Amino acid sequence: LPVLAIVGRPNVGKSTLVNRILGRREAVVEDTPGVTRDRVSYPAEWAGRDFMLVDTGGWEADVLGIDASVAQQAEVAINLADAVIFVVDSTVGATATDERVVRLLRQSGKPVVLCANKVDSFKAEADATALWSLGLGEPYPVSALHGRGTGDLLDAAMKALPRISEHGTVRPDGPRRVALVGRPNVGKSSLLNKVAHENRVVVDDTAGTTRDPVDELIELKGRPWIFVDTAGIRRRVHMMKGADYYASLRTVAAIEKAEVAVILLDASTTVSEQDQRIISSVVDSGRAVVVAFNKWDLVDEDRRRFLDREIERDLGQIQWAPRVNVSARTGWHLDKLVPALDRALTSWDTRIPTGRLNSFLGELVSGNPHPVRGGKQPRILFATQASTRPPRFVLFATGFIEPGYRRFIERRLREEFGFEGTPIEISVRVRE
Ligand code: GDP
Repeated sequence: LPVLAIVGRPNVGKSTLVNRILGRREAVVEDTPGVTRDRVSYPAEWAGRDFMLVDTGGWEADVLGIDASVAQQAEVAINLADAVIFVVDSTVGATATDERVVRLLRQSGKPVVLCANKVDSFKAEADATALWSLGLGEPYPVSALHGRGTGDLLDAAMKALPRISEHGTVRPDGPRRVALVGRPNVGKSSLLNKVAHENRVVVDDTAGTTRDPVDELIELKGRPWIFVDTAGIRRRVHMMKGADYYASLRTVAAIEKAEVAVILLDASTTVSEQDQRIISSVVDSGRAVVVAFNKWDLVDEDRRRFLDREIERDLGQIQWAPRVNVSARTGWHLDKLVPALDRALTSWDTRIPTGRLNSFLGELVSGNPHPVRGGKQPRILFATQASTRPPRFVLFATGFIEPGYRRFIERRLREEFGFEGTPIEISVRVRE
């Protein structure tokens, strides 16, 4: 998905704007367990277009009052984004910090839409006009608090946002792109080092692949694989303030550039909230998924029993992902990684022929009809797979299909067709 970042200094109203943009959508979003609002990026939609909204409001609590780091942190978000909404408090006007962010925006060359926020009254519109002086084009007067002007702002943002993320340009015949994600200290850099050390690291680009300097090309089982954004793993940034936020942004950036994510978990400790947030980001991204339990050398009989229960309890969102138990320290079972990646990517690419899909669904639905609601029974007329990577299905139905019934269909599709390691999406179009 293309990435739209909301950038601006503390207190200009970024989070309020994010809530506005998501608000409408959150109401219709299904109950996904483990999803909290405490994250840096959210899938969003406007005017029929899907995009990833990156919220840089999250670190305000951390860095409030430290203006220099505002610019630094904005830089990370700007690099990751395909387009930026730059939020300025029109009641205050442009500050020196704002000017600094403007310079970063210019250097980046990314499309920018200028949001003059806190225009709560007619009088305030004059303040908004003053922001032409920033040289970022037309300031869009907005009251994020009251919702005023957000529609026009988003229309402009959609015009600025490319249809396809610059990170998403994956050559179908090129090496597959892997993101290694996980919270600090799960062993990402240990794993990467071990894998790179025991395999051939391709330094020149004769393979004809485009890759960033932050990516690494490693030959595994005779084939090249791109491990994306490895600089973020190798360079261990320890910052007093905002370190978690940086780590989260990096995770999002890496996932966006990848086709498959290896979610690294520490098998010796319980799954944490931070792990859950990372899992949610991966699931939202629609990428293929492999779960790797690292530090298996520390797992004894007792721990293993607990772990089974925890997996059941905490990994519900991705119970369909292949799991491998590994030790980055000893190298144990690291050879299981590639087969798991292959399985996940194969599922991600799978297309079910329409005939087969419909004969399967027809039988399923006639044996297990949708419950009757309000005297009516919605019927599923036809289904088609709209896309791969990940597989997306569209059901044409005569009425609203309940989330529970959709999940039932998803479960059965998985039983029938596998889909190990890939999220699948099911949407419904109602035909009267
Ligand atoms: P990162 O922050 O995710 O990159 O984690 P690191 O790779 O820096 O690892 C954090 C700590 O966990 C280091 O002290 C590693 O030596 C240790 N570690 C990593 N993998 C393993 C493992 O498989 N077994 C054990 N026992 N320790 C590990």
